[in-house]
Amino acid sequence: MSAKKSNPISVVTGGAGFLGSHLTDRLLAEGHSVIAIDNLITGNLANIGHLVGNADYRFIKHNVSNFIMLPEEKIDYIFHFASPASPIDYLELPIPTLKVGALGTHNALGLAKAKKAAFLLASTSECYGDPLVHPQKEDYWGNVNPIGPRGVYDEAKRFAEAMTMAYHRYHKIDTKIVRIFNTYGPRMRLRDGRVVPAFIGQALSETPLTIFGDGSQTRSFCYVSDLIDGIFQLAMSDFHEPVNIGNPREMTIKQFAEEILRITGAKSKIEYKPLPVDDPKVRQPDITRAKNVLGWEPKVQFDEGIRKTIDYFREHLKDS
Ligand code: UDP
Repeated sequence: MSAKKSNPISVVTGGAGFLGSHLTDRLLAEGHSVIAIDNLITGNLANIGHLVGNADYRFIKHNVSNFIMLPEEKIDYIFHFASPASPIDYLELPIPTLKVGALGTHNALGLAKAKKAAFLLASTSECYGDPLVHPQKEDYWGNVNPIGPRGVYDEAKRFAEAMTMAYHRYHKIDTKIVRIFNTYGPRMRLRDGRVVPAFIGQALSETPLTIFGDGSQTRSFCYVSDLIDGIFQLAMSDFHEPVNIGNPREMTIKQFAEEILRITGAKSKIEYKPLPVDDPKVRQPDITRAKNVLGWEPKVQFDEGIRKTIDYFREHLKDS
């Protein structure tokens, strides 16, 4: 992907999802034409409604776990973002999750090979499982339970990384792998079960905030515009090994609940619920590699990002 291409054409799988739709907006702003593919099982047409009528944009409803047929002669970049991505989604959709990580990645790589396109895989911090190394660096191999309920996502993404590196080494495809840490922002689904929409939705409706476990587990939240910036820079780089993109600002889930109450001013109580099986106890990206290779680091402060996200949910609460 190193040499910038003129009038580039990009394919975004999962293009109607939270990240896929933000990535599409960035690519269009950078002068790309975009073909978005999504089967809408967790994606949402409302995320791409503003693109209707854009001559540089095309949407195809298709499940990329099945063969991807594109008549376009020229495709320059393929961004493979299709997958259920919230723990509740992949518990409800275990087999589609395994299939899109495995078969969907194979199909998207096959398309990259056929069209001589560059390829970027949306991978995940879940590759590190419940990590025994903290913060997580890219050379840590992880601590994943293959047969646990989260294994359907974690192992599919680990397979996807292995497949991507095989296409890079064997077929000489120009591939990139981003390991995405917890990201938040507008266009997350209010009811996708993840902690950011869950707590904001609960605070805005003055219902109890549901903390799983004792709330001592940690996460590090990155605002979506920072994440997309890192991904775009990685796509345009020459670097083929995985790169963590995320915000190292770590907090416990209890602290996160308190922040949401502080910023919304809600009077919601806190309700403790059982911790899901294999829920990682800590998570924080080491972003040394992203800094060194891409010169990237996050810029958006937590308060600013979370306020924008709360505003979005406030506006959309009535539609859900
Ligand atoms: N969590 C929680 N309450 C909720 C939803 C999630 O306490 O209503 C916790 C969850 O157990 C995990 C953390 O928040 O420890 C982040 O969960 P999320 O589903 O956002 O994604 P994960 O980081 O686990 O992939």
